[in-house]
Amino acid sequence: MAAPAESHVGARFIETFGLCLDELCQVFMAPEGQPFIVAGSGTLAMEMSLVNLLEPGDKVLVAISGVFGERFVEIARRWGCQVDTVRAPVGQAPDAAAVEKALKSGGHKVLCVTHVDTSTGVAVDVKAMAEIAGRAGALCVVDGVCAAAGVECRQAEWGIDVYLTASQKAISTPTGLALLVVSPKAMAASQSRKTPVPSYYSDWGMWLPIMSAYRARKAAYFGTPAVNLVAALSESLKQILTEGLPARFQRHLKIGAAFKAGVAALGLRDVAQAAVSAPTLTSVYYPDGVGPSLVGKIAAEGVIVAGGLHPEIRDRYFRVGHMGTVSSGDIVATLAAIEKGLALLGHKFEAGAGVAAAQRILTAA
Ligand SMILES: *Cc1c(COP(=O)(O)O)cnc(C)c1O
Repeated sequence: MAAPAESHVGARFIETFGLCLDELCQVFMAPEGQPFIVAGSGTLAMEMSLVNLLEPGDKVLVAISGVFGERFVEIARRWGCQVDTVRAPVGQAPDAAAVEKALKSGGHKVLCVTHVDTSTGVAVDVKAMAEIAGRAGALCVVDGVCAAAGVECRQAEWGIDVYLTASQKAISTPTGLALLVVSPKAMAASQSRKTPVPSYYSDWGMWLPIMSAYRARKAAYFGTPAVNLVAALSESLKQILTEGLPARFQRHLKIGAAFKAGVAALGLRDVAQAAVSAPTLTSVYYPDGVGPSLVGKIAAEGVIVAGGLHPEIRDRYFRVGHMGTVSSGDIVATLAAIEKGLALLGHKFEAGAGVAAAQRILTAA
């Protein structure tokens, strides 16, 4: 990020951008997929997916496990689509049978799923969802913003048509890039639509020649790429592939399990049901007698956690991200800070119990 800005059509950047596009397909395990790296945030990647695949009046089904599923609904409505939903209770994943039944009613062009919803910490079995979509003849769009490069996703093998993320979550680059990989089937669907894509900047057709050119290590122009962010992304992708995807997914499972064991040992309850609680993020209910002021007490110990986001339970819980570059040491330090905050607010627990429970997992072979 701190390197001098360089020309977006210069030899060095052509190589950097081309490599990022190739490596994004490796990270998503979609060798035949079409990658797009565009300046914007994760929300742009969500909007790009829907605006290219759906036309006004088309039917879309959204399987909702939190706030970000609701965002898919709003985006699709803005672009004039007919939206059906299968909404899970807070802390649960959408019921696969209900999704299958809703798709059977017919005519849905796309099923939208959130891999890990950041408002609840619920991880959805996206492999099963993609299979259900495939059987119903619908394309499957997965929001992987809180999961990609932290939770296993084999895009091509699992039949996911669009997998999307933003630079700043488990990819561990600063904010500012929308990242998505589109299956050949979804590219063909977008190319055979009857009406033009109603958004100029989001139109895959405008970006496709650019992405193809850089992958062939040639320059091309549509909208100027975010040169320094792409350089940073290149470094992150190198780190991800050097660690290796299986090892990285395993590391997230381990530090996630350690954190969850730690908060449980302090008498705190996970918002997500145990079977669907995500490796990348945990949502934790405040214990009785403790409220949102805990977040500030934890911050005073030098650790940043997030407050509640889901409107049904907003003031009753807080969220802790443990993805990307987060280490075992970060988990221990975070639990120690949570213990300090809880003690200051009068919650009764055995000092060190959270740290010890996490350490038992972190130090196991
Ligand atoms: C953060 C997030 C988004 C939105 O990404 P922005 O970069 O904030 O636009 C969408 N979906 C999920 C699951 C997220 O965690």
